[in-house]
Amino acid sequence: MSGNGAAKGAEEPRGAERITFEDLVAAIESKLTAAGAAPATARVLATNCASCERDGTLSHGVFRVAGYLDSLERGWADGTAEASVEVAGASFVRIDGRNGFAQPALAAAGPQIEQALADTGVAVVALRNTHHFSALWPELESFARDGRVAMGMIASGKLAVVPEGATCPVFSTNPFGFATPVAEADPVVFDFSTSSMSHGDLQLLRTEGEEAPVGTGVDSAGVASTDPNDILDGGGIRPFGGHKGAMLSFMIETLAAGLTGGAFTFEIDAEAPEGAHTFRTGQLYIVIDPERGGNEAYPARVQGFVDMLRGAGMERLPGDRRYANRAEAAERGIPVTDTIRALFD
Ligand code: NDP
Repeated sequence: MSGNGAAKGAEEPRGAERITFEDLVAAIESKLTAAGAAPATARVLATNCASCERDGTLSHGVFRVAGYLDSLERGWADGTAEASVEVAGASFVRIDGRNGFAQPALAAAGPQIEQALADTGVAVVALRNTHHFSALWPELESFARDGRVAMGMIASGKLAVVPEGATCPVFSTNPFGFATPVAEADPVVFDFSTSSMSHGDLQLLRTEGEEAPVGTGVDSAGVASTDPNDILDGGGIRPFGGHKGAMLSFMIETLAAGLTGGAFTFEIDAEAPEGAHTFRTGQLYIVIDPERGGNEAYPARVQGFVDMLRGAGMERLPGDRRYANRAEAAERGIPVTDTIRALFD
């Protein structure tokens, strides 16, 4: 291995077809620390990013490392920031990420979140001044594995979504995620953008020279287009589900930006330096202890519900694909792509 920031302690994958999860985490971590991230921050981000790659959420996997490095190297995000955590009420935890990344800031509030859940059964976790450009499911799944119901949302910060009637992008792709424990099974976790396609997937299509599905977006003149170049360069992505997706996106910005004190997409997009990949925005999580519902059998009841859905023909539930990829990666390793090889340059 060679070059500043080349992965240390990880097995060189050049020529290999698979890499272990642990080696991938180490490789990303090494790049992030070389770019100025504190070790604990680098660990949290690398684990998140490698988890996305391992589970097949490729739009937020290793392909995103370059964006993290860019934000660190130009000083746009602070990889050494220590989040300030304030208990604003028995159930309300406010976090100022101080221009750091959201996942380490959320991790820093772990004790306060646990206290709110113990005292009241609910934790509303409001983050501001935080950069988040990954998937929501890693944190949500973790809450569900601890027996909690959790939902999360992000005002994601890049003006990209043009609802019907608007003449320019007014929202970002603003994702929403939900996770619930299920007795004797993995949690059910869904997590998707409120746009017809995530920005990351569109970028991947562009890289691969492929068209987007009909209805994905518009060009700079507002005319429907399936060309990722048109949509990404001056055009815009449509919300999913017409006005319904648009108003979900509205709700996400009002909660993840308005309520948290973080920036709305229209504010942060103007502030971000040219070419920035991460955005200093806000996120909101709501975590619930389901035992407070007066129903100690919650996970078993959800299990019965899930069994009914599968019995009705819904063979694939959100999370199934990721868990299958994860099981395969545990057995055979994670497929090594050129993007992963580049971590070792
Ligand atoms: P998708 O349209 O790919 O949908 C993803 C969700 O739907 C997953 O939970 C997936 O489960 C589930 N799913 C997909 N197809 C099916 C199916 N046929 N049956 C059942 N469940 C299905 O998501 P997006 O492309 O919109 O978003 C991808 C990621 O991008 C998300 O993780 C999101 O958080 C992230 N994102 C992050 C942003 C940010 O600013 N931080 C902005 C926008 C998006 P499974 O995973 O098991 O396939």
